Parts: sequence; C-alpha cells; structure tokens
Amino acid sequence: MRLRDLALSLTIVGFTACTAVHGGDAPRWARAARHGLPERGYDVDHYRLELTLLPETRSIEGRCTIRLVALEELSSVLLDLAGLEVLEVRDGEGRALAFERARDELSIALAEKAPEGTLLTLDVRYGGVPRTGLWFSGERRDGSGPTQVFSQGQAEHNRGWFPCFDHPSDRATSEILLTMPADWIAVAPGQRIDIVTDGGLRREHWRMTTPHPAYLISIVAGELIRVDEQWRGLPLSYYCEPKYRDWLEDSFEETGAILGFFEEYTGVRYPFSKYSQAVVANFPQGGMENISATTLTPLTLGDELSRRDRSSVGLIAHEAAHQWFGDLITCNDWSHVWLNEGFATYMTLLYFEATRGVDEFQCLLRENTRRYLVEDRGGRRRPTVCEVWKDPEDLLDTRAYEGAAARLHLLRFLVGDANFRDGVGAYLARHAGRNVTTEDLQETFESVAGFDLDTFFEEWIYGRGFPEMDFEWSWSEGLIEGTVRQTHDSSGGTARVFHLTSEIEVGFPDRSERFPVELGQRVTTFTFPADVRPQYVRFDPDCFIPKVMSWPSRTAEEWVAIARFSKNPVARRDAALALGPLVGSQKRGEPAREELTGELLALLREDENSWVRADAATALAWVLEGPVWEALTDAATGDASARVRAAALRSLAYCGPHEGMAAFGRRVFDEAFSWETMGAAAALVTSTDPTGAPAWLIRNLQLDSPHDRLAALLLAQLARLEGPAIEKELEAWARDTTLSPTARAVAVRELARDPLDRAAVVALLRELLAEENFRLRGAVIDGLGEQDVIASRRALTEYYPRARTAKERRMIEAALRPSP
Ligand SMILES: [Zn+2]
Repeated sequence: MRLRDLALSLTIVGFTACTAVHGGDAPRWARAARHGLPERGYDVDHYRLELTLLPETRSIEGRCTIRLVALEELSSVLLDLAGLEVLEVRDGEGRALAFERARDELSIALAEKAPEGTLLTLDVRYGGVPRTGLWFSGERRDGSGPTQVFSQGQAEHNRGWFPCFDHPSDRATSEILLTMPADWIAVAPGQRIDIVTDGGLRREHWRMTTPHPAYLISIVAGELIRVDEQWRGLPLSYYCEPKYRDWLEDSFEETGAILGFFEEYTGVRYPFSKYSQAVVANFPQGGMENISATTLTPLTLGDELSRRDRSSVGLIAHEAAHQWFGDLITCNDWSHVWLNEGFATYMTLLYFEATRGVDEFQCLLRENTRRYLVEDRGGRRRPTVCEVWKDPEDLLDTRAYEGAAARLHLLRFLVGDANFRDGVGAYLARHAGRNVTTEDLQETFESVAGFDLDTFFEEWIYGRGFPEMDFEWSWSEGLIEGTVRQTHDSSGGTARVFHLTSEIEVGFPDRSERFPVELGQRVTTFTFPADVRPQYVRFDPDCFIPKVMSWPSRTAEEWVAIARFSKNPVARRDAALALGPLVGSQKRGEPAREELTGELLALLREDENSWVRADAATALAWVLEGPVWEALTDAATGDASARVRAAALRSLAYCGPHEGMAAFGRRVFDEAFSWETMGAAAALVTSTDPTGAPAWLIRNLQLDSPHDRLAALLLAQLARLEGPAIEKELEAWARDTTLSPTARAVAVRELARDPLDRAAVVALLRELLAEENFRLRGAVIDGLGEQDVIASRRALTEYYPRARTAKERRMIEAALRPSP
C-alpha cells in the first residue's frame, strides 16, 4: 500500500462512520459526500476467522488470517477494523509487523516491499467488545445474560468484528472456526465441516468456497434449535429459539417452492451447497441475505392467527431471491445497490404472480409502489443510482426496494415478457460470481431486446422521481379524444417529459379494446375511432408506469363502469375508493346515493379479490345507513380474508357511541379470527363505548399473542382515550420488561404523541435510550425528537456518539436540525 492510496482511502471511507463533533451544546456531523471505488492495491483471496464468543462479557477474542494478492507493489496493507483492540499482527513467515490504528482502519507495515502478484498472508490477533456488526441478544428474563449472538454486515459493519476489506467489490472465500458455550449451536455461510465439544465449549468449523464480498459473511449462534429438511437434494435448515418451535415449519414451508421458482424463472441453479434461515432475537431488520445463510427477525414467525394477517412468504422470498441477486452477483459499489434490492423485491412479486395469480401480483405491486411514491418527494428525492451519501445504509430506502422494483416492472413492459425473462437469465449467467453495475444490466437487456434503452435508464435510473399525470377523454362523432398531461415539477432533476410507450383501454358494454400510445411531450393528445360512446377509458391499464395519476373529469358513472367491468383489481380498488366520497356528497334519499351505495355493496359482497372488498368496506364508511350496516357486520364476521374483516370493523367504528356496535365489537374480538381483526374490533369498542373501553382494553392487555402483537394493537387503542390515568397506564407498559419490545415501542410512540406531562415523558424516554432492542430504541429516539424541549434535545445530543446505526444517526440529525 502506497501512502497516496492510504490518504485516498481515508478520504473515501473515513466519513462513512460519521460521528458528531461536539462544539458547545450543538452537535455537528459529517455532510453527505460522493463515494467512488476504494483503491487498496490488493485483492483478498481468503479469510480464515477464529472467533471465541464470550457472552458473560459480551466480548470476542479473534484471530483473522487474511490471504491476499498484491495488485501493485505494496509496502503496507490497509484493512477496515472498527473498535476492538489489536494485540499483534504477523506475516506468513511469523514475523511481527508494525501496525497503526486510525479511525476505523488498521494499517499494517510489511516487513519488506511486496512486488505485484505476491501472495501475502497476514495474521491479526485482536479482541474486545464489538461496537458494531456483532450483537449479543436474547436476554434471559432473570438478567443473567445473553443467550444468542448474531452479526449484521450490511452495509459496512463486518469491520466491527473482524479485519477485512469491507467493500462489496472485493470477493474472497471464507471459513469461520467458532468457539462458544457447549449448549450453543451456530450457523455460518457454506458447509459445516467439523464440530468438537470439549471442556464446556463447542467449536464449529464452517467453510464457504464461493468467493463473496466481506459484508455477506455472517454468524448466528446461541441456545437455538435446528430443524433440517431437504429440497431436491439441497440441505435446508431452520434455526430458532425453542419457544418458537411450533411455528417454524408452517412459516418456512414454501422455501423449497420459492427456490424452485427462482431456478426456473432465471434458468440458474441455486448457487450454494446449502440454504439456512436463522431467526434471532433483536434482529434489527426483517432479514439479511448472508451468503447461503439468511438471518431473520422472529417477528416473521407466528401462529395461525398471525398467518391470517400476514404470511412470512414475502420476506422469505425476498431473502432467497438475494441468493442470486446480491450474493451470486453483487452490486460493485453501494451506489448500485438497487440492483440487489430492486431485483429481490421484484422477484418476490413474480413469485406471487406465479403462485397467487396476476390479480394478487397487481395489488401487491400497487402497495409496493405506493410506499415509494409517498417517500420519493421534496428534499428526499434522489436518483436510483446515487453516489452521494453519509452512510451507505442511507441508500437502503424505498428507492432501492419498491421504487426500483416498479422500474423493473416498467422495463418488463418496454422489452416484453419473454425478453424480460431472457434478460434476467442472461444478466445472471453473464455475471455469475462477479460484481455488477447498472451499465452491465443495461447492456444485457439491450442485447436481448435488440434496441437501445438509453432513454429509460436516463429518465428512470440516473434521473430522479416519477411523473405526475392527469388523464381526460371525450367522445363525439365516432371518435375518442384523450389527453395525458405530465404535470410534475421538473426543477429538482426530474425529467420534464418522461418518454413512454403505453396503452389505452377502452371499455364498451360488451368488450374492451386496447390501443398503443406514445408519450413524448408534456401534453399528449390522441384520437381513436369508436362507434358508440365507451363506458370508460383507462390510460396504462396494467399499471406499468410508476406514477401519481389523477382523473379530473371522471364521472361517477365512469367509476361505476370500471367497478363493474374492469378486469384489473387495482382499477376496481381505485373505483371503490373514488366512489366513497362521491356517495358521501349525495343527499339522503337521492337516487344516485342509493345506486352508488349499491355498487359499493356489490364490490364488498361479490368481488373475488380481497383487496377490492377491503377497499369497498373502507369506502362504505361514508354511508353508514340502511343495508350498509348489515353488509359491514356480515363482512366483519364472515369474509374469508382478515384484511376485509378488519376494514369492515374500522368503517363501523365511524358510527360514534353506539351500544349495539360496542357489543358487536366485543363479540368479534372474542371470536379471535386474527390478531388484526381483534385489533380492529378493539377500535370499534373504543369508538362506540369510550366510557367502558379503558377497563375492557386493560383487562385484555393480559392476553398472550405472538410477540405481544395483540397487546401492541390494544395499546394503540388505549392511547386514543386521553387523560392522565391513560398516560400513567401507557408509561407502565412502556417500562414493563415482561412485555415484548415491539409492544413497548407502541406504548412509547403513543406516549410521546403530545403528552400532558412532557417532563415525565422526556425523563422516561431518556432512561429508555439504554434499551438494547433496536425497534424499541428507534421508538424512543423518534419520541424524543417529537418533544423538542431542551431536555429532549440534550438527551439526543448526548446519545448521538453512541448511536448504533446510521438510521439512528439520521433520525437524531433530523430532530436536532433547527426548524426553518
Ligand atoms: Zn433485500
């Protein structure tokens, strides 16, 4: 490593672990900077990691032997290592080497210059309490210490537990020799090749022979149980705490089918020798696609009532898709992380399309895209490929996941279904075992499709944002005239005109027809022949374009036609939600009111799609009268879908105090169809019987549910009833360590919302900053940010240097930024 390289990599990497610098009371932090590829002058070939886990002290003892190849003449080697104490460094010949620590780096001076092409071995002995990357968790209730440990490498946290070249562009093989208490078991990437139990300790040896970036190396260990299965000869294993045993197989049952679908769709076999999924306490995210060894949150496991609300299939499919998109091929640097996350998100949707049908796919895509459209606004808008960040984790937002998946869906329309599938397969096959950039994806798709995709990539991937559009049409003398306007503000780098190919669907009483349209201007007008007046005209009927759409002149009559005849469930959902306020604005007794109510009732009772029925139930809140009562109470107790039942109950809650409805709510609650429906029934009881609700809610807070899901829902209802007694109750639950941290987080969030006794709440939140649980601490930081008093600002300022994640740092920065 030459000095120039050292200086360069300090500027590039140094800012990523930004810490607040205190000047008086006001914290300062690093600004977002542009990031390129680090030049280290070497290529790591293999990591051999010997690690002893010491749960009593939450510390580790480590020895990391790194084999690397000099890509140029080197006199020193720069590695990433955050915190921990380095005891000694030796080279392959056993010579002790001088080393220096600066920021989160370890610079090792070689005994002599190593010419280009030299294979070097460095042996680093180190230890201490990891500050990041490796977490002890699963506290015993008697306070006697943690029972599990897990690592979380992405984006650049594996440097917190072993020295490495912590950048996605460097691929190496790895092996881990893990020493731990004898009653623990472990899982790591690759195959377990040895187990030794000796003197109260257990040692497991794992080896991964496919080269991979350092961030995909992982361990999970602890007092866990393991369940093994086989899928087409591939060992599948699941790990969890013994208390979740009964939920394990049901939650993971589709794993084989998911892997099979991805193999079939991409034409590329599952790339590794096993696939494990391990559930660990306090995992900060939903899941992480460590290579051949996914780590997951326990919240994904649940009983039958939980599965009626939400299945774990989406999360399992997402992490499994990453084994191809992210692990077999990896973004070359974080600016291209959308290639990892966008594909994992879209491949999950494709699995639902293949197994649950196109209607479910359309509805899930809509939910996904909506999350992106809400977030990618104002100052938060950024391009999909983005080189500017404070911490690479800042890029892991809806632009990398849902926004990127929506763009892949548009790409599928542009190149066609068959080309899209071929393109995905070719992209994987060409780059398997290597790193990729957005250019690689564009090149592959252009070669498969046979035309250039510059405009798509410029406007949607390197550009920012999405179009906002309105659509109007009219019919006269055998012609339909339609106009699509792109109305969005383009001042912040969003394309003024998105150049798009799309379609128009024209619906007649007996049929529908489609016509292609090209959008190349802010306002595009087109005409089509039509002998009779159509009942409806829809732009982009299959919802390929990520956009915010409005229909300024669409009439109730046209919405009714869409509700009745459109084959696309998303269009029927739009119709249901549009008809709600239209019914609400009609006077009682007007024929239109009866007719529109009838349409919504038909959707609620007869539509085969549960998302449409749920939206119809929501829209009927506008018209709680006559037959609507019966339809909503029927749906709340009889619909096959928990989503529809819960929506019906929430609509009924708009009726205000009502003895009969309160009794109905209690009955539905006792029937216990799903946790969400019980939460919605509690909302109905709370609205219709505000006097009796507190005692009823507090009594039911004692009921058990997976991860205290029910308690969390009931606490949110309790918080709607104001007063000092309620605040005291919430405070007690926020402190209660027998309650799951996710339910305590709800108590914290509710308590922090405009409290009566702000000083007491700030004091409590300050105390809770010491909590280990990521989700609970997130709620505490959010809550302190909302108070905006001297004591809360001081608590956040003091905590900032100890913040565990980039997300925590960004939350605090936003809270402490002076208000405009
Ligand atoms: Zn992911």
